[in-house]
Amino acid sequence: RAKEAGKNTYQFFDADMNTQTFERLLMESGLRQALERREFELHYQPQVSCDGVSLQGVEALIRWRHPQLGLIPPGRFIPLAEETGLIKPIGAWVLREACHQMVAWDKAGMRVPRLAVNLSARQFEQQTLLNEVNDVLAVTGLAASRLELEITESMLMQNPQEAISLLGELKALGVKLSIDDFGTGYSSLSTLKRFPLDYLKVDRSFIEGLPDDDDSAAITEAIIAMARKLHFTVIAEGVETAEQGNFLRQAGCAILQGYFFSKPLSAAALEQWLAAGLQHATLPGVDGDGDD
Ligand code: C2E
Ligand code: MG
Ligand code: MG
Ligand code: MG
Repeated sequence: RAKEAGKNTYQFFDADMNTQTFERLLMESGLRQALERREFELHYQPQVSCDGVSLQGVEALIRWRHPQLGLIPPGRFIPLAEETGLIKPIGAWVLREACHQMVAWDKAGMRVPRLAVNLSARQFEQQTLLNEVNDVLAVTGLAASRLELEITESMLMQNPQEAISLLGELKALGVKLSIDDFGTGYSSLSTLKRFPLDYLKVDRSFIEGLPDDDDSAAITEAIIAMARKLHFTVIAEGVETAEQGNFLRQAGCAILQGYFFSKPLSAAALEQWLAAGLQHATLPGVDGDGDD
């Protein structure tokens, strides 16, 4: 009996494995065709000045509009795209699509100052990244200084010497560089200072506890103060409430991004959001005495 039960357990496990493998294969073949079937789309999340008054930029965030499964968030397919190497053509598409969108907005008279694009580790390893960035700027005519590339700590620490040289070459093109999700890795600000970075994005996990959680408050204030002394421009991610926004502004954070201002929006929805003006995003705690 025990043997039989064990056998059944084994078979069940096996069947489960097969389901997982099957799902993975389905996802993978779907992912392979998604580019030519034009199933990817970019949403854009506004980044606003710390007083909530002006748009500072947008971050492009990819989604997969699957014919059966609907809109799939990046967390559910980027890891598979990285494993399979599909992230390279997908990442190149993101860069092209987002830069073309910026130029289209320019032509329509819509002022989006800066575009941030997320890079994956696989894209960062290759020297072709330089060519891709160079080409997209040449083809679209977008000013390099309006393009910001977001990288993560682990991408830098994998091979710091190589990273320093690649970042240096990207900087020479004139693009801006930012460190995403700061605080989730193991690098210190002094380590990061070895890299030519412009922006530092404080991870959402620190913002979540603001303003009431003393530890989150202390850590966030310290990060912002140090980052500013080291000449990083600080961006806070995941700002969901006015209280969080006010705390961050008072702590010296320059730029805010999060659901309080807006979720990531389709290009068309961003146009409407901008046309409505940013007054709906203004922080109630801003006193307007001009000393911020
Ligand atoms: P990320 O770069 O840190 O992007 C911020 C994520 O936080 C986005 O999730 C955004 O929708 C979400 N978010 C923004 N504000 C708030 C808020 O106030 N509250 C909460 N709870 N969440 C907020 P999303 O779009 O699902 O993207 C997840 C991650 O997928 C990104 O994290 C980024 O690492 C990756 N990703 C997205 N697009 C791309 C891409 O084009 N290429 C690559 N390589 N990675 C991408
Ligand atoms: Mg990002
Ligand atoms: Mg982030
Ligand atoms: Mg994040």
